[in-house]
Amino acid sequence: NADTAMYHAKESGRNNYQFFKHAMNVRAVERQVIESSLWQALDRHEFILHYQPKLNLKTGAVTGAEALVRWQHPQWGLTLPERFVPVAEECGLIVPLGRWVLREACRQTRRWQEQGLELASIAVNISALEFRHADFVAGVQLILAETDLPPQCLQLEITESVLMRDADISSGILQQLKDIGVQLAVDDFGTGYSSLSYLLKFPIDVLKIDKSFVHAINANTGIIASAMIAMGASLHYKVVAEGVESQAQLVFLKREQCDEGQGYLFSRGLLSEQFARLFLHKSVPLDC
Ligand code: C2E
Ligand code: MG
Ligand code: MG
Ligand code: MG
Repeated sequence: NADTAMYHAKESGRNNYQFFKHAMNVRAVERQVIESSLWQALDRHEFILHYQPKLNLKTGAVTGAEALVRWQHPQWGLTLPERFVPVAEECGLIVPLGRWVLREACRQTRRWQEQGLELASIAVNISALEFRHADFVAGVQLILAETDLPPQCLQLEITESVLMRDADISSGILQQLKDIGVQLAVDDFGTGYSSLSYLLKFPIDVLKIDKSFVHAINANTGIIASAMIAMGASLHYKVVAEGVESQAQLVFLKREQCDEGQGYLFSRGLLSEQFARLFLHKSVPLDC
C-alpha cells in the first residue's frame, strides 16, 4: 500500500544518500592522499615527460612533439595527468610543477637540436593557474635563456576555455608572450563554446582541433573538422588535429589539407630516447 511504498522510497533515498556520502568521502580521501604525496613528488623527481610526435600531414615528417607529464608513483605506477593535474591546480602545486615541465621540455629539445635532431618545436601545456600567475611570462623568458632554446621553438598550448576566462587579461598575457617570440596554440579548440570572433583576435599561431571532432570524422563525415580546417587556413593559422586514431581519419584530414596531426595512429607519447629514435627515421609512413 501507499504507506509501505513511501517507506521504501524514503529508505532507498537514505541509502542513496549514504552511498553518495560514502563515495564523496572516498574521493575526498583519495584527493587528500594525492595532494600530500604530490608535494613530495617534485623533490623526489617522480615526474617524467613523454613526448608525442607531431607530423606534417603532407610529408609525413615529424616536426616536433607535445610534452605530456606523467607521475611515476612508487606504489601506483605510471599515473596520468587527469588524476593529478586537477589536484595540483587546486593546491597550487601546478605552478612549480609547470615550471619543471617547461624547463625539462626546453632542455631536452635543446639537447636534441645539439645532437642534430632538427625539431621545429616543442609544445608544452600551460594550465589556467600558471598562465595567470604574475611571474609566468618572466619565467618563460628565464627558462629560454637558461636552456638556450630559440623562442620560436617553444609552443605554449593554452585551452580555449582558459583563454576566454577574463579575455582582456588573457589578451595582455598573450601579447607579452608573443613579444618574447614563442608560438601560441589554442588547445582543445572547439570545446570552449566561446565567441569565435573574440578568440580569433588573440595573437595566436596554431589551432589544435579537439580530438572529439577528429573522432567524429568516422560517424558524421567530419563536417565540423573540415569547417575548422578551412577557417584556420583562410585566417593563416596552422591547424593541428589531435587524437588521430584511424586511417580513415588520416585520409580525411589529408584531403582537407590539415597541416599537422598527432595521435595513436602515428605514435603514443614516448620516452625521450624512443622519441629520438623515431625522429631519426625522419617520418612515419602515411601511405594512403
Ligand atoms: P591535451 O593537451 O589535449 O593532450 C592530448 C591528450 O590526448 C594526451 O593525454 C594524449 O596522450 C592523448 N592522446 C594523444 N593521441 C591520442 C589519440 O589518438 N586518441 C586518444 N583518445 N587520446 C590521445 P594525457 O597525456 O593523458 O593528457 C591529458 C591532458 O592533461 C592534456 O590534454 C593536458 O590538458 C593535460 N596535461 C598533460 N601534460 C600536462 C602538463 O605538463 N601540464 C599541464 N598543465 N597539463 C598537462
Ligand atoms: Mg595539449
Ligand atoms: Mg588538446
Ligand atoms: Mg584535450
